[in-house]
Amino acid sequence: MFLSPISTADFCPVSVNGSCQLHDRPVVEIETGNAHAPHVEIYTCIHCGHGVTRPAMDDVAPLYDNRASEDFLARDAGWVERLKSFVTRRLARKLLSHAPKARKVGDFGTGNGALASAIAEALPVGTECFGLDFFDKPPAAIGNARYQSFAKARRDSAKFDMITCFHVLEHDDQPRRILDRISSMLKPGGVVALEVPNVDCVWNSWFGAACSNWYAPFHRVHFSRNSLKSLVETADFEVIEHRDICGPTIALSLANLTGIKPNAAFFAIGLMFRPIQWIAEKLTARPSALRIIARKERETLS
Ligand SMILES: [Zn+2]
Repeated sequence: MFLSPISTADFCPVSVNGSCQLHDRPVVEIETGNAHAPHVEIYTCIHCGHGVTRPAMDDVAPLYDNRASEDFLARDAGWVERLKSFVTRRLARKLLSHAPKARKVGDFGTGNGALASAIAEALPVGTECFGLDFFDKPPAAIGNARYQSFAKARRDSAKFDMITCFHVLEHDDQPRRILDRISSMLKPGGVVALEVPNVDCVWNSWFGAACSNWYAPFHRVHFSRNSLKSLVETADFEVIEHRDICGPTIALSLANLTGIKPNAAFFAIGLMFRPIQWIAEKLTARPSALRIIARKERETLS
């Protein structure tokens, strides 16, 4: 059974010239177990491959009441925690290499605060990193990073040299709205680092509705290479770098498939399969996730 028919208003939200159009049947239907959106369907665009979760939601905030989604959890212990921390610190250094003179960095949609904490650790003395999110209070794992709610950050006139936005854009039905807000917070010439799951990930067909990339109902849109690039470029950013990312898709999808919360055992299995996963994603050119580094256009004096 399908939900209400797709209307013309449901054209691909990254469409530039109105040429995009969604297929009339979903690629996947998912029973989410979430009271706000118990049954969802995901449709993709005929032209650019971009996916949308239906029914649409005007306001996604209720999905994150009390930081109850997996995005805010920091429950790992022991070796998993240490390995994640190592990987996150390395990521922070790599991201900062795109803006070596940054004095003020923001992590938009900071979730559990781990990336903001790692960026703060990697920044030199006299610079600062802010974790930014819905809530008034900071997450527990934010470390030496400072914290601002989105509402407070909007009032703050000081601008950022760099903003990271990892696995956030896909959480809103209107990702352009998020990117425009990020742009308004960046200085001219400032750098944004975006990462999102790939709608065309090779593991989608293996795991079906259990593939972690769908993450329904929290993932509202599902980017393809074309749709992510199109969104960034039409928001007046210049793309500096594209990168294919091999994420923890196998571990999380196996957890979904078995109905067990992701734990150290799944993490170990994911590590064991990682070489195979990496090779499969490279050979097919269908990675788990897509990363784009882009620069906000400098204002020209007229
Ligand atoms: Zn499209």
